[in-house]
Amino acid sequence: MASAKRVPKKADSEFRTDPDGGWPDWIDPAALRRLQEAIRSGRIGHAYLLSGPHGVGKAAAARAFAQAICCTNTERSDRATPCGHCRACRNVSRGAHPDVETFSLDTQAMLAEKPGRGSTLTIDTVRRLRSSAALFPLESDRRILIVDDAETLLEPAQQALLKTLEEPPPGVTLVVLADEPESLLETVRSRCQEIPLRPIPQAAVAQSLQSRGVADGLATEVASLSRGCAGWALAAVADKKLLQTRRDERAAAARWIASPRYEQLVTAFTLGDQYSKRRAEVVGVVQSAMELLREEMLAAAQAIGNRPASGGRTTPAHVYSRAIVAALQCLSDLDANVRPRLALEAMVVAWPNSEMRER
Ligand SMILES: [Zn+2]
Repeated sequence: MASAKRVPKKADSEFRTDPDGGWPDWIDPAALRRLQEAIRSGRIGHAYLLSGPHGVGKAAAARAFAQAICCTNTERSDRATPCGHCRACRNVSRGAHPDVETFSLDTQAMLAEKPGRGSTLTIDTVRRLRSSAALFPLESDRRILIVDDAETLLEPAQQALLKTLEEPPPGVTLVVLADEPESLLETVRSRCQEIPLRPIPQAAVAQSLQSRGVADGLATEVASLSRGCAGWALAAVADKKLLQTRRDERAAAARWIASPRYEQLVTAFTLGDQYSKRRAEVVGVVQSAMELLREEMLAAAQAIGNRPASGGRTTPAHVYSRAIVAALQCLSDLDANVRPRLALEAMVVAWPNSEMRER
């Protein structure tokens, strides 16, 4: 793993790159081990599916994996770790290595005749990938094709991708990245070795930001809002709008939870009505609410632990766990296209009401 050496403050846009080259120091260690093991064993598979929440680091992991495979530095002590400095490593990092190609909504937009970023990866993009997979590697032993935003592939495009997965050309490795692997066909998923990337502890996110020269106060705040996704945190440090959106979501969630039951319901209905147009925002507020309830539960548990046994008027833990379960259910209902008003209402009635919280 790359050392967490302190680096001079860089321009915001450079925060996304790992300061020392090599593997990002904030990738889920279990996933990192599996990717490195594939390289060390000398049996790199034909297809991997890296799954995990948006901003958890799937693209960074895929890039480092490609670098480790293409790295030409013969001095490195571990062939599963890229040096980060040789020409091959730098070219992978810049998206300029002839044997590493990424297919994503962004690359698709760059090649499109009409301007604008679509919301799905098209069949044409999958066809481009198929042609690219037929080429021989030029500089490395292997071609690595990264399919980002794979959760946006509609079924016909997935069927087209399946053809490549079913008859993988020798010397080609597909690395498919998906926020929601459930949106992929079972046939696609089963052809890939799935490596889930889990969020990492907040402290690790904060440390990673600090090691890139982010001031301690900002690093702590961004980490607390990151949901354990360091990729998001790095982007949020560079993009204040991203950060402010999450701050706003959290503030809205706090007001929602603290309001009387009647207002909680009104807010639930309002958000329900907005869901079709502002889906990400509504989901973000529900996620923030769940995080706040979790924090309140921990604080309550601590308060009970610190107090003599006779005290005991804090909201009991089971009330919070019921509320958290309801929030999880709401998120899964929204995802399953349950009517948003119903899903949000059912969650709110399981929340602790304000009378219970006031003492
Ligand atoms: Zn290298």
